[in-house]
Amino acid sequence: MQDTELYRHVLGIEEPWRVDRVQLNIKAERVDVWAVHGEGVRFPCPECGAAFPVYDHAPERIWRHLDTCQFKTFLHARIPRVECPTHGVKQTRVGWAEEKSRFTALFERLAIMVLKETNIEGAGELLRISWDEAWHILERAVGRGRERKKRWVVKKMGVDEKSLGKGHNYLTLVYDLDTATVEHIEDGRKKESLDGYFRLLKPRQRAKIQAIAADIWDPYLASIREHVPEAGEKLVFDRYHLMTHMVKAVDTVRKQEHREMMGEGNVLLTGTKYLWLYSRENVPQGKRRMFSSLRRRRLRTARAWALKEELRGLWSYYSETWARKHFTNWYGWAIRSRLKPVKAVARMFRKYLDNILTYLKHRITNAVSEGVNSTIQTIKKMACGFRNRDHFKLAIFFHCGGLDLYPVTHKNVR
Ligand SMILES: [Zn+2]
Repeated sequence: MQDTELYRHVLGIEEPWRVDRVQLNIKAERVDVWAVHGEGVRFPCPECGAAFPVYDHAPERIWRHLDTCQFKTFLHARIPRVECPTHGVKQTRVGWAEEKSRFTALFERLAIMVLKETNIEGAGELLRISWDEAWHILERAVGRGRERKKRWVVKKMGVDEKSLGKGHNYLTLVYDLDTATVEHIEDGRKKESLDGYFRLLKPRQRAKIQAIAADIWDPYLASIREHVPEAGEKLVFDRYHLMTHMVKAVDTVRKQEHREMMGEGNVLLTGTKYLWLYSRENVPQGKRRMFSSLRRRRLRTARAWALKEELRGLWSYYSETWARKHFTNWYGWAIRSRLKPVKAVARMFRKYLDNILTYLKHRITNAVSEGVNSTIQTIKKMACGFRNRDHFKLAIFFHCGGLDLYPVTHKNVR
């Protein structure tokens, strides 16, 4: 097989294109390949698809392609232009690259795969492209994915805020809980932030939302109530977020009690912080005996812990009536506990109980978005290169948007 024929196959160059010549430069570690098309070929107008003879050629362009072993490989071609009576003189499309890209589609595909696994710097190094080039590929990939994406009604949606780290800098994220993807991102965590998402939907689309998981955050609640019909039935306060309030209360009780005991020279609670925060079944095996004897002491912390564990039972019911009974008992116990932080949580639960118990009907939590959250944490960690918040948003869509990011390869015309 001649090298030109070999490269035609390797590059995926299809009729009417063929490889004219291949130039190897050992010193520069690069391979240059020139593609040309046959005489008398008609090319389609990119607007209407009607075929016309070549009008002229655009100046030569160069695309970076997949390496040939360790050699950088570049494809050269002059793209023909056609004269369409309807659309005028237009540059035709080539099968190996998207319009305006300086990389072939196969190279972009590889770059996207690499970018999925590492950060911009790492991808740039591996692919031997600059930060800007790597970023540009990511940006194009997200644009491509979002353009292809059909906007469907998110039946089970989650709303969550995301801190950007510095100060009170937040993003509002809307999730599709069924697909565990980020559907929408807005700046801030105000009512208007969530309004921005709902405004994209028509009233009849908003009516199709079946359930919404959210934290107790008044601006979001106001927005949901304004835009989603029968919001009261659909809104579910996230159980994990709710439990963090209770876990915090246990910790506050422990801190106070520990301080008092230390004042009397009693070190019983020293080094036990995390044991009280675990759920019963997650207490490490090696600590269980010690912890269980600790729990039998007359400690306020032990009482708070027992109340926390009892509260978790609320979400295990199938019947709302029984869940309400459970809560009433628990509430009485909590209020009589003389533990101030626990009583505060109990009152909060009572206030929001209706939309805590909607869980029993919809069975949704934002736990899905916790997975997304850990990905976002990783993005943040490797985000030294994220020069602004728009970059950060794009990266979230790239990694968590569930988008079809890849360019079409091996086709003459899309
Ligand atoms: Zn046309």
